[in-house]
Amino acid sequence: MRPTYLEVNLEQLKKNLEAIRAHVGKAKIMPMVKANAYGHGIEGVAPFIEPYVDYLGVALVEEAIQLRMLGIKKPILVAGGTLIEQLPLFFEHDLILTASSLDLLTAAEQLGESTRQRLKVHLKIDTGMERVGVHEYEAEKFIKTSLACSHLGVEGIYTHLANSEQTNASVTPASLQLERFQEVLHFYEKNSLPMPMRHVCNSGGILNLPEAHLDMVRPGVLFYGVYPGRDIQTKIDVKPALTWKSKVAYSKVTLPGRSVSYGSLWQAGAQTRIVTVPCGYADGYFRRMTNQARVVINGKSYPQVGRICMDQFMVSVGDDDVKVGSEVTLLGGGITAEELADWTGTNEYEVMTNISARVPRVYIGAVQ
Ligand SMILES: *Cc1c(COP(=O)(O)O)cnc(C)c1O
Repeated sequence: MRPTYLEVNLEQLKKNLEAIRAHVGKAKIMPMVKANAYGHGIEGVAPFIEPYVDYLGVALVEEAIQLRMLGIKKPILVAGGTLIEQLPLFFEHDLILTASSLDLLTAAEQLGESTRQRLKVHLKIDTGMERVGVHEYEAEKFIKTSLACSHLGVEGIYTHLANSEQTNASVTPASLQLERFQEVLHFYEKNSLPMPMRHVCNSGGILNLPEAHLDMVRPGVLFYGVYPGRDIQTKIDVKPALTWKSKVAYSKVTLPGRSVSYGSLWQAGAQTRIVTVPCGYADGYFRRMTNQARVVINGKSYPQVGRICMDQFMVSVGDDDVKVGSEVTLLGGGITAEELADWTGTNEYEVMTNISARVPRVYIGAVQ
């Protein structure tokens, strides 16, 4: 196997799920496993976690099909925007459609009618994200139409928070979105109609807006043990499950004045040992981190130096005798996704989801 790999602690993911469950009480849980399970590897994560979850959530219908191919039997919600031409796939693979427009809803109903099949849908209400979904002020017509669709089972209704990590206001944007959503739900109460399953919360909502937990929550980043923002007060006992490791592939002494890598962006001030790590920006070790990142070798932290290349980068270890084959930790083991995000000028989500398919995933901690 490649010396550069991602170690994924499945047992930790299960603990994270348990911690979230304890926090949300009776609400069902739908971990989001889109984007290759936030980089953790869908093939390892989904089958392991399936027995402990109520639903699995993805963004794309293609991701949902991949889950079915992996043998997943639990309900799968496709949360992202869907094109009408993709609708047959939902029937074929028993997937839950996010009905995000009147057109999509009607097209799904027509397809159900013409093929004499039924489809489960969750209605998507846009309360302030302006992405996909029907605005709360146009929801009544949407819901009425859905009630007339005899080939669709409206199992759920949901919205998505745009600023769930923000708490520094008397009326937060998230609570305003919740209020708009509740107004939409009032239609069911007013008309004594059975209430579909209601869900609102991503990780930020789970932490900051307990009154929005409702019938189900949709943890993404928090399930992977990472907080969705830096100033979150509520703490849940989750921990990261990823360790990104490699091995020193080359070790040499560099003389003072010699510069390292493309563009000569770093120069040795004094004699130092430079070691090469066989991992680069094509693996998701962002080029933007050049001269800012650090790694851990033999329990000690060292600076990454010189331009990060496509497949390799260099580390200055000073006078330490670091040998070829020594283990290098790029993430985990004292280096957080937050740090990588800061070095790159991005967020933890992008750091994790960008670890490329070229990096093998190794699963540990699974009960056999
Ligand atoms: C990705 C996603 C989530 C999870 O978001 P996190 O911030 O990672 O918790 C929840 N709901 C929907 C609809 C999503 O697309």
